[in-house]
Amino acid sequence: MSLFFDIRRYSINDGPGIRITLFMKGCPLSCIWCHNPEGISLQKEKMYTRKKCIGCQTCVEYCPHQALKLTPNGILTDRKFCRLCDQCVAVCPTKAMEISGTEYSLDYLMREIEKETIFMDRSGGGVTFCGGEPLMHPDTLLELLHRCRTLGIHRTVDTTLFASPEVVSRVMEETDLFLVDLKLMDSGKHCYYCGVPNDRILSNLRMVAEAGKELLIRIPLIEGINADEENIRQSARFLFELPWKQKKVHLLPYHDIARNKHEKLGTRYNPEDIPMATPTEKTIEHCRFIFQTHEIEVIVGG
Ligand code: SF4
Ligand code: SF4
Repeated sequence: MSLFFDIRRYSINDGPGIRITLFMKGCPLSCIWCHNPEGISLQKEKMYTRKKCIGCQTCVEYCPHQALKLTPNGILTDRKFCRLCDQCVAVCPTKAMEISGTEYSLDYLMREIEKETIFMDRSGGGVTFCGGEPLMHPDTLLELLHRCRTLGIHRTVDTTLFASPEVVSRVMEETDLFLVDLKLMDSGKHCYYCGVPNDRILSNLRMVAEAGKELLIRIPLIEGINADEENIRQSARFLFELPWKQKKVHLLPYHDIARNKHEKLGTRYNPEDIPMATPTEKTIEHCRFIFQTHEIEVIVGG
């Protein structure tokens, strides 16, 4: 079963033109700065926004499993009892309660995609699959990509490339553009900050480049994690040697925008308090300089 946690229309940062972006739930990585922590688990999750809650306790009254109670910090969900049945979401008058993760039929998703074709056609846009990690759902993803192809819709897959080479190779046949994050070149550090080593990612990236696929590389630039001279030089060297045509990276300066989402999920952002900061202008310019000396164009931002 493939769950989706968002469908975003009029998106302009997920590939060329105006796009519809489908967010698939589940990711094999768990980067500590992840902007979409609700995309990590493959399962449905309950989310609660305290500032929207008026304390009416309708949810408490209607929960069939007595999983909710009002506390001085708002409504508390006892996850041992919650069955993710959606009752509290249905009765909450302020939309303070949400369930992240919905299963849609492929026909429904295609109808949603097709509704956007007027904007795609005018802007050179299309559809983007991201997550989470869309490659965790190869059958669903491939079927949607294939159906989009038959309609002439431009297809982008935003991926970590942490998947088997077989899956990457099958998806490659049905994809026009890959958006790939390059996070850390040191595999040990990648494992520590993202939960998995990076060797599979780098070899898949090489495979996609060698196949001549269109690639857009993005680097989330985080002071304290990957904005150091050594990592940036290693990244630039790796990308310089990659046989890809575009030779362009997007540097995405870090912001702790996921903090609110962790609050909604009832989880803690960066629980080990690992120091992370937005890089200074000086650091960004130095990174730009390093990439440029490797003949790679730099764009700062999405
Ligand atoms: S999702 Fe269902 S079980 Fe869970 S808290 Fe809401 S009403 Fe109760
Ligand atoms: S129903 Fe909604 S607004 Fe009322 S207490 Fe529950 S979460 Fe808050």
